[in-house]
Amino acid sequence: MTPPGHPLPDPGLLAALARGRTRVAQYMAFQLALQDRWNEETATDLLCQETAPRLQPIPFTRNQEALVGADWLWWFIDQPTGLCFGLLCQAKNLKKKGADWFIGVDQENKSYGRQMPNLLATADYFQVPAAYLLYCGTPAYRTGLGCTQHVPPDCVRCARSAVSVLSALAADYLYSSRPDDAASDAFRSALPLEDLADPDLPQELFDINLEVCGPELRQFLLDPQYRAPLAAKKIFEQLSRLRLGVFSRSAVAMESHRNSVLFRELPADSGHFSAPYFHHVLRGLRTEIPDYVTAALSGDVVSARVTTRAAGLVLVQM
Ligand SMILES: [Zn+2]
Repeated sequence: MTPPGHPLPDPGLLAALARGRTRVAQYMAFQLALQDRWNEETATDLLCQETAPRLQPIPFTRNQEALVGADWLWWFIDQPTGLCFGLLCQAKNLKKKGADWFIGVDQENKSYGRQMPNLLATADYFQVPAAYLLYCGTPAYRTGLGCTQHVPPDCVRCARSAVSVLSALAADYLYSSRPDDAASDAFRSALPLEDLADPDLPQELFDINLEVCGPELRQFLLDPQYRAPLAAKKIFEQLSRLRLGVFSRSAVAMESHRNSVLFRELPADSGHFSAPYFHHVLRGLRTEIPDYVTAALSGDVVSARVTTRAAGLVLVQM
């Protein structure tokens, strides 16, 4: 896909995300000095406060009976093209106990096992991918965890990683294949949130199913993307890389999907994930903003079918 509109990076959004991440990092550093823990809901509040108005949270106030209360449905709205990308985000803390790493409040597999199916089911309901929004503490806190692109002494990547994003399908795979190392693997597979909005970073992507993709989908994977399609591509890339790590191949069927998604014909390959990964991510990349987003933006009533399934919307104007 040739990027319509101007292909320049969006310094306003990038700067806002950096401000938000810096504020969350300060909060985590302060809390770590006090009591070795921080609250992920406070972190999300600070992130939204500091990135406003580029990130616009719209909380659902009538969701006392919420099925999934803590997950926010993010929509990246691509103003020049009208495209948009939805991502259901569950906030998680990266925690350390001795030399071991965990994700979540009481990271035992019990808690993980309960939450992941709910998260994926809600993502299916909204027809968007799911992700963990990972609050990862300070670089000093993460000593020993490793950074995949470390450049000392003041590693930019380490600083940016304070607020990271990981596809839930990737997290699900990491926990089911190597539970003991899952949290550290998850951190290494995650991307700084800012990377979703930074087209200057390398975008080359080789997917194991590239050869069966149609020309437009292939172009999306191979060419630089901007704004909402870039955010989608960055989430897809996490799964594509993990998929490449397991070389099992089978005949790949294509499957067709609904009208408002940008790519309707997608490889049906699930690899070792719990769902076909092309569809899981790219169903969130749409040619039209969903009705409930339009309603929320204009202050109209949002259907209870939506407000009982998420804490609210986070709109990212791009
Ligand atoms: Zn680093």
